[in-house]
Formats: sequence, structure tokens, C-alpha cells
Amino acid sequence: MRLIDTHTHLDFDDFEADRQAVLNRCQQVGVERMVVLGVYQRNLQRVWDLALSEPQVYAALGLHPIYLDEHRPEHVQELRDRLAAVAGHPKLCAVGEIGLDYYVESLDREHQQTVFDSQLQMAADFNLPALLHVRRSHADTIATLKRFKLKRSGIVHAFAGSREEAREYIKLGFKLGLGGAATWPQALRMHRVIAELPLDSVVLETDSPDMAPAMYPHVRNSPEHLPDICKALADLMKISAERLSLASTENANALFGW
Ligand SMILES: [Zn+2]
Repeated sequence: MRLIDTHTHLDFDDFEADRQAVLNRCQQVGVERMVVLGVYQRNLQRVWDLALSEPQVYAALGLHPIYLDEHRPEHVQELRDRLAAVAGHPKLCAVGEIGLDYYVESLDREHQQTVFDSQLQMAADFNLPALLHVRRSHADTIATLKRFKLKRSGIVHAFAGSREEAREYIKLGFKLGLGGAATWPQALRMHRVIAELPLDSVVLETDSPDMAPAMYPHVRNSPEHLPDICKALADLMKISAERLSLASTENANALFGW
């Protein structure tokens, strides 16, 4: 099985003690590439350095809506300068993690929208895919994406929306990132939605260290768990794990131009 983890936070401190061992185990279980994402100004260099030093790691750079209150206007400008400086570099694969989070009510929505718009403009200007965090904000996200019409689209990470929302994203050329959350037995709506998704719209992810899958509950999630997540999701989709791994890897390769 050859797999791509399209969303992991391997640069986080959770992996400080054993990052190299995790990467080695990923190699052994067939997780051949992974995307590590920027979330705030202070991790952008760390993500970039990790991508440069590890052959299987690729970098997305962006400012995450959850850390909105930490983002200064100069951080947005710095991100643009950073993208300009490494534009076209094979280790730069996307703008992300960016988006809108309406679940956390203390995050100012107008300010979120401003930061999101600026970063989608960067994805357009540097011709990169966008990796999106979308919580309780599908309608506004879809409306925003319709305005931007990104040529290289992107991924709605940890997709947990409805069948109709899935259809809207797919129409916009976006892939839906599936991971551990859908493997939990109580995620009944997700199970129904996933079973109907066209295979060419799906990519796999762990969101590690978060979003532990049902088979590894309450422990640090890790990209090395992706083969087990793939098996569990394939069962829900009533296809073989081999078929899901092939399709999701092909989709990720096409999106990132690998
Ligand atoms: Zn994330």
C-alpha cells in the first residue's frame, strides 16, 4: 500500500522526541509522502526546515483561523513574502492551513474572512492549491471559493459536511480530506456521506497529532496510522483498502503535481 498523508502537524512538539523514528516507521508501512502545514507565523520556518531536511515531507504555508488573535497584519505580509521567496520550489506544495472556523464563537468572523481572503489571493497569485480548515462555515466557505475560482483548487481537510456540501466542493474542483474522525462508530452521518463520495474526490489524512482514529483512541495520532485509517474508511465505502489507497494517492499526486 502506498499512501500520502495530505494533512499532518509533524512539526509540533508532540513529535519532538521521536520524529525520526516516526518517519522511519511511515516509510516501512508505505506512507511515502506527507504534507506538513503552517498554522501561525512562528511555525512557518520550522515547517519549511522540516520539508527541506526530510525527503518525504512537503510544506504548506499559511495562517490557521483558530490562531486568529495571534496573527498580526505583518504576519500576512510576511507569509506573502515567504511564498514569493520560495515560489516554484518543489518542496512548497500549497497555501494552508487556512479557512473559517465558526465553531469557536470567540473568533471574529469578519477578521477571519479578511485573513482567509488574503491567503486565497496568495494561492491564486502563486498558483498553489489551498488546504482548508472549515468548521460550521461551509456556506460562507463555498461562497468565498466561488469568488476566487482557484485554478488548482485544493482540499477541504477533515471533511464532515453533508452530501450537498460535498457536491458543491467537488463542483469547485476540491478534494475532500478524510481521516480518523470518520472511523468512529458514532459518526453515523459521515458514514453515509462517505459511502456515496466519488472515489476521484477523496484524499486521505491523519491531522496528527490530533483526530485519533477509533483503532488508536486517546493516544497521539501519527501519520504511521494512515494504513489502518485507510482500511477502516475503505470498509465504510465498501471497497478494498487497495482501491482506496490507489485512488487517494493518485488524487493527491494530481492535486500537488507530483
Ligand atoms: Zn490541521
